[in-house]
Amino acid sequence: MKLVFLGPPGAGKGTLAAKATTLFNAPHISTGNIFREAIAAKSPLGVKVKAVIDAGKLVDDAVTIELVRERLAKDDVKTSYILDGFPRTIAQAEALTTFSRVDTVINFDVPDSVVIERLSGRLVCRKCGFNWHKSFNPPQKDNFCDECGGDVYIREDDKPEAVKKRLEVYREQTAPLIEYYRSKGLLVDIDARPQVDIILENLKKALRRP
Ligand code: ADP
Ligand code: ZN
Repeated sequence: MKLVFLGPPGAGKGTLAAKATTLFNAPHISTGNIFREAIAAKSPLGVKVKAVIDAGKLVDDAVTIELVRERLAKDDVKTSYILDGFPRTIAQAEALTTFSRVDTVINFDVPDSVVIERLSGRLVCRKCGFNWHKSFNPPQKDNFCDECGGDVYIREDDKPEAVKKRLEVYREQTAPLIEYYRSKGLLVDIDARPQVDIILENLKKALRRP
């Protein structure tokens, strides 16, 4: 099953994808994670995209498309994957049709007020990428991840100015993908307000999975 996870920043795509990857036995491909790893490693790609990402803007289409095209050429994603954070523009969606065929696009729906609440308290593990939240889901030990013991930090692009920018970018460039995929009959809407386990149950039902 080839899935795309669509939704505003803070919809919980990353958290949900991390669980769904085991559930559906489909590799999780997060362009955001790939970029953050590149930045941490100070690779040429990382150096190139750091400022753009920190400011809450999108990396340019050509770079992002090439990255995903190469990743989707690997053997482990021949029959299934979860694409999280790609496509984010119509141009990316059009490019995707030239190298892969998506089965279903999940639109994780959540109001702006919830997005802002979630992003403004988000803490990310530097080692395993797990998403914690200062008030809703804090790690037991301050500043350390319960999953792996790594240290947790606030993403540069989760700071208020960048969050504002990301929501703007989402509305202008990514939200049009909802109608784009709906008109192709590929879209499934999922309410992203409940707790993760409930969302996953709803997702399984929507995809008619046991
Ligand atoms: P979020 O938590 O907002 O869903 P991600 O972790 O998916 O964010 O991505 C973080 C940042 O990485 C984005 O704000 C953007 O700068 C960059 N990025 C990720 N995916 C894409 C993409 N498909 N096209 C352009 N830029 C991207
Ligand atoms: Zn961790």
